[in-house]
Amino acid sequence: MKLSTPFHVLFLAAGSGERFGSARPKQYESLCGLPVMRHALNIFLTHPALKSLHVIINPAHTSLYQAAVHDLNIPDPVSGGKDRKESSFNGLKHLCDLGIAAPDDPVLIHDAARPFLSHQDIDHLLEALHTHTSATLGKPIAETLRRANSAHILTDRIDRTHCWALQTPQAFRFGDLLAAHQALEHDRQFTDDCGVMEAAGHDTKVVRRSSSNIKITWPEDLVEAEKLIMSSYIPLVGQGFDVHAFSDTPTRYIRLGGIDVPHSRKLSAHSDGDVVLHALTDALLGAIGDGDIGLHFPPSDPQWKDKDSAVFLEKALELLQQKGGRLNNVDITMICESPKLTPVRDAMRHRLSTLLRLPESRVNLKATTTEKLGFTGREEGIACQAIVSVSLTPC
Ligand code: MG
Repeated sequence: MKLSTPFHVLFLAAGSGERFGSARPKQYESLCGLPVMRHALNIFLTHPALKSLHVIINPAHTSLYQAAVHDLNIPDPVSGGKDRKESSFNGLKHLCDLGIAAPDDPVLIHDAARPFLSHQDIDHLLEALHTHTSATLGKPIAETLRRANSAHILTDRIDRTHCWALQTPQAFRFGDLLAAHQALEHDRQFTDDCGVMEAAGHDTKVVRRSSSNIKITWPEDLVEAEKLIMSSYIPLVGQGFDVHAFSDTPTRYIRLGGIDVPHSRKLSAHSDGDVVLHALTDALLGAIGDGDIGLHFPPSDPQWKDKDSAVFLEKALELLQQKGGRLNNVDITMICESPKLTPVRDAMRHRLSTLLRLPESRVNLKATTTEKLGFTGREEGIACQAIVSVSLTPC
């Protein structure tokens, strides 16, 4: 088997996460703006050898699941069982029903609460299947191991020599794992699939994980995971510039920065002509390398006629979030003789803070004239520049 051999993934997300202590299962909790499960899903979905991926969920979590993956092109979820072993088995039976997995195809089983998977770890597991029928990621135990009684008083000493903490993914050949589960269908003692395979007579190779592969079990794990992700963020910037002309049509207000600003002449525009939001949208799209506002919202498309430009900004924020990114701050410069910014600065800053979901201290608004020079000096139109700073996780 070569590293590029297509593999299937059964993604176990049916747990209720009782130890986490939250009303919402931990796999759906937010981790740096994305549901916990999305982090590992994104890693699998960008692996070049992925053949199919199936998420196993608790049907009671269907609405949470749909909200978490609504923009991903993945098959409908599989219903989980009453424990982890039954959920794995349900996933295997589903693969069998679909008829898309050959007996020798690798199947990786992963826990949705482990967000820090890497392509390198996936490749190492697939490589281990060259010589073994069962493989798991693991971490050698470095800490002193002791048992404790119910009063938390230490009792037995445990020799940590050659001890490993087993993780996921775990890798198998489809036919072997299905046969092992079928043979041990009514045996409930197993907490992972390697255990099922070993009981069916297979040896498991443990592969040392290459990077942090922590499992979100307790609330403090989520804090640790946030720190890990933030330490890997890459800072990026984007800039946007927009101009709209004033028409001769009289009006009482024009739209700027998401609010109505008193002015006597309408703006010429296909949408509401909000140069501040247009410049901000372009700056965000620039920061994430995703074209410009005209690409996403062509002025030739009638659906954007007279549209509230907050829609464009929201779309750019959604694209940023889909990339696991976060917005740090924005700096905006309006360039015009009129209207004046000072009377509306506070209201506009407040509105932008709401639209951008940023504290007002991270939203700066400036204005300048061009000393009566050029089209802004002749009051023929208004221009705006925006610069944004974002942080993205490495691809
Ligand atoms: Mg514009």
